[in-house]
Amino acid sequence: MRLRNIPGSRETIANSSWCVQQPEQTKGHWQELFGSNHPIHIEIGMGKGQFIMTLAARNPHINYIGIEKYSSVLLRGLQKMEEQPLDNLRFIRMDAETIVEIFDKYEVERIYLNFSDPWPKDRHAKRRLTSREFLARYHQILAPEGQVEFKTDNASLFDFSLEEAAQAGWRLTAVTRDLHHDASLNEGNIMTEYEERFSALGNPIHKLIAMR
Ligand code: SAM
Repeated sequence: MRLRNIPGSRETIANSSWCVQQPEQTKGHWQELFGSNHPIHIEIGMGKGQFIMTLAARNPHINYIGIEKYSSVLLRGLQKMEEQPLDNLRFIRMDAETIVEIFDKYEVERIYLNFSDPWPKDRHAKRRLTSREFLARYHQILAPEGQVEFKTDNASLFDFSLEEAAQAGWRLTAVTRDLHHDASLNEGNIMTEYEERFSALGNPIHKLIAMR
């Protein structure tokens, strides 16, 4: 998701107490930041934040961190947080490529990836958030029973993700090519902005859950 640059968005984020400014300094201490020992779940590429904010409101016993690369996109989530604050949610503006500098071994219990950018050119495959390079990063920060949950309407990216998970030795505990017609996996499903848009066009939504 690329929105046109919004002047002042970087400054707003830099001055917001909902955004963690130097997240590498909190490595190994995220529960202290939240003031509770609740599990940490993160979303990478949260966009405008509809998914993670709904999750956080529903699950006060879990601490959530939303990660987004672009200030202009994250700003939308921040504006919603100002209107409806959630104590168990924080944001980080960063490229997730350096995620291992932010979280310690076993510090994260779940990673959500929703409608991640497909990066269709082969030479950009390692930028895909389900590539073996990213899975290796997730392996470093996820708890032993931790899981990655991935949704997309992009069948090629989904096929790629299944192959990468298998190649990296991850176990698939759930796979569907039509989430909205899978009664058990769809139970409690929270739609993202992209999910609403693409399912309204009739695109089936794919989902996988992977563990090591
Ligand atoms: N998850 C949202 C949804 O489903 O509505 C947004 C989907 S949008 C296609 C993908 C988002 O991921 C964009 O906002 C993009 O900036 C962000 N993103 C892509 N690569 C990223 C990375 N390496 N680190 C952090 N955010 C990233």
